[in-house]
Amino acid sequence: MITETEGIVIRQTKTAYGRRMIVLLTKKYGKISAGTSITEGGKNKSALALRPFTRGRYELFKGRDSYSINGAETIESYYSIGEDIEKYSCAAGALELADKMLEDEQQAQGMYNLLSEYLSILEKRKSDFGTLFLAFRIKALELFGSGINVKSCVKCGKTDGLKCISVPDGGAVCEDCAGPSAELNPLIFDAGDDIIIKIIDFIQAHPLRALEKLSVPDQVKSRMTKILKAWYSYHLGIEGLKSESLVL
Ligand SMILES: [Zn+2]
Repeated sequence: MITETEGIVIRQTKTAYGRRMIVLLTKKYGKISAGTSITEGGKNKSALALRPFTRGRYELFKGRDSYSINGAETIESYYSIGEDIEKYSCAAGALELADKMLEDEQQAQGMYNLLSEYLSILEKRKSDFGTLFLAFRIKALELFGSGINVKSCVKCGKTDGLKCISVPDGGAVCEDCAGPSAELNPLIFDAGDDIIIKIIDFIQAHPLRALEKLSVPDQVKSRMTKILKAWYSYHLGIEGLKSESLVL
């Protein structure tokens, strides 16, 4: 069956006989792997649309248990992402995460929308790309039903005196509920006079495009990165990401 869908190129690998396997996050079919004989480096429009980060329109042949790409056309190339190493790392980190979070052919309209919005905003952003990457990771969790609950203490429901983020409990915990042993638990993180809780709340309440002016100080960013790393590992079993080693 010949079909067509919009998609984002997540990664590609070389296979036998000069063919390549392209992992695409598609609007219609979720994440798929599709073989192609379209050669790399060619200047034709199909070759350009198969580069990582590209959002394009893909003509697919859907076999019984495989896909192949017959033709492709670029919608957005996010070309300037490659011009800045930090920007590039933040884009690569988001693709890597989307890849790990999704099973093959799992419907992923929400992730498709989030990722295309993210890449488009990242391309235009002038500085502090790391804050946007934090926001991406916080929003991606919500899509998978693993959002960080920061509205109130997850144990007693109190809305003031929130002191920590507890990974196993699923969100903010107040001073009373955290108890004196919280400091010793590597999965309970101090929220730094609740600044981290306020930032997460703000990010969850706004679309990415409204976060243009948000810039999280480096020290806070690195603490939030630690929390997210523990969160992804504990709740989704995702660890060992290349992007985790980035200091952004
Ligand atoms: Zn409490």
